[in-house]
Amino acid sequence: MEQLIVEGGRLVTPEGVREGTVVVRDGRVAALLGPDAPLPEGRRLDAAGRYVLPGLIDSHVHFRTPGLEYKEDWEHGSAAALAGGVTTVMDMPNTRPPGLDEDAMRAKAELVAGHAGVDHRFHIGADPANTELLATLDPEVATSAKVFMAGHHTAPVVFRDRAQLDAVFADAARGGVRLVLHAEDQHVFDLLDSWRGDPHSYGEYEPHRPRSGAIVAVAHVVELVRRHGTAAHVLHTSSAEEIDLLVAAAREGLPVSFEVTGHHLSFTHADTCRRGPRTRLSPAIRGEADRERLWRAVLSGEAATAGSDHAPHTVEEKNRPPVDAPPGLPGVQELAVSIWTGMRARDVPADEAVRHLARLMGSGPADLFELPGKGRLEPGADADLVVFDPAERWQMSAADVRSKCGWSAYEGWTFTGRVVTTVRAGRVAWDVRTGLHTPADGRWLPTARRLEALR
Ligand SMILES: [Zn+2]
Repeated sequence: MEQLIVEGGRLVTPEGVREGTVVVRDGRVAALLGPDAPLPEGRRLDAAGRYVLPGLIDSHVHFRTPGLEYKEDWEHGSAAALAGGVTTVMDMPNTRPPGLDEDAMRAKAELVAGHAGVDHRFHIGADPANTELLATLDPEVATSAKVFMAGHHTAPVVFRDRAQLDAVFADAARGGVRLVLHAEDQHVFDLLDSWRGDPHSYGEYEPHRPRSGAIVAVAHVVELVRRHGTAAHVLHTSSAEEIDLLVAAAREGLPVSFEVTGHHLSFTHADTCRRGPRTRLSPAIRGEADRERLWRAVLSGEAATAGSDHAPHTVEEKNRPPVDAPPGLPGVQELAVSIWTGMRARDVPADEAVRHLARLMGSGPADLFELPGKGRLEPGADADLVVFDPAERWQMSAADVRSKCGWSAYEGWTFTGRVVTTVRAGRVAWDVRTGLHTPADGRWLPTARRLEALR
């Protein structure tokens, strides 16, 4: 394969941000050159005035295969990812049928092969009826398992009682499996349902799924981690208290970490009241003080990952009455630019902001989910790169949306920063001027653990 020379950008490396050139050969980063080094032969890609980041990782997407391809599929999901600078995704198991065992994971890998334009790993679904599976789970298949502690429209199996939860934490600890948790407490919601009844407006939605449900669940997670030593990553944190609890537990030395989503950083409850179903989410979008606590978790380094929770539904589904409208929005395309826009609006200097982005969507998820060759711009890494214009301002419209669902909660938003070019496996896969160029040759990634064992 021809060499690709990504010339003259600001390289976002593990050692810091500096001017230079990236040389790509045989699907790998061959070298990082200084600004004055002579350039080798090869196809040139001009990155002057732009950042060059490692290909981004979104460790929380729902690409809906198998069974729900009418909402999203891997062709569209991959296109949205690449347009957003994402070259690796981790897909969730709440499909039809759900991915609850090793055979289902292998079957999904076969279904996805030839359709994915991005590299991928899967989170297996933890099954209350079969938690023992996690104690012996083949790390080739999955090293992380999704636990739903509360139900919603697309949650296939919910851990409803304490004995089940205790068992899944114990078995995951024995098998070295990291739990990724939808941490809201179903009992809290059941009690409130019997008191409040169904929500009739989007303004009633957050009080219907209040912060107390999330806080109780996260406190419970911390207690179970303390008891069993299980590695636990709490998804889509929404309130200040969840974060305070998890930060205190991590300081104690417990193996807990957490995710922030683009939408919880971008919107508030007032947006849901005003604009309705598109930001009707689970966990609910909360108030301004919570959102600012999430931003503090981003800028202080407390948050381990940023995930999109890319969960498309059709326009018809979202337009149902509040109680029937499924939670979720597309987001893999908007995640990096929405976080960039938020950081710049908060006057975070660009070189600092780009390091936060490279951690939350690079080294953070790569380390947590054991993705070798991903998440860091350094020689030997996979040749996944993003050329990012830090200053361009552009307005998103429905025509920009690559997800199959065809809508975005960010329509009409003016973003700061734009993904100009995405390189995956050494080739230009997305260019903002010429669109998508990617063949669907995304790989089901091996784990670091497996590679270690083979060494
Ligand atoms: Zn999700």
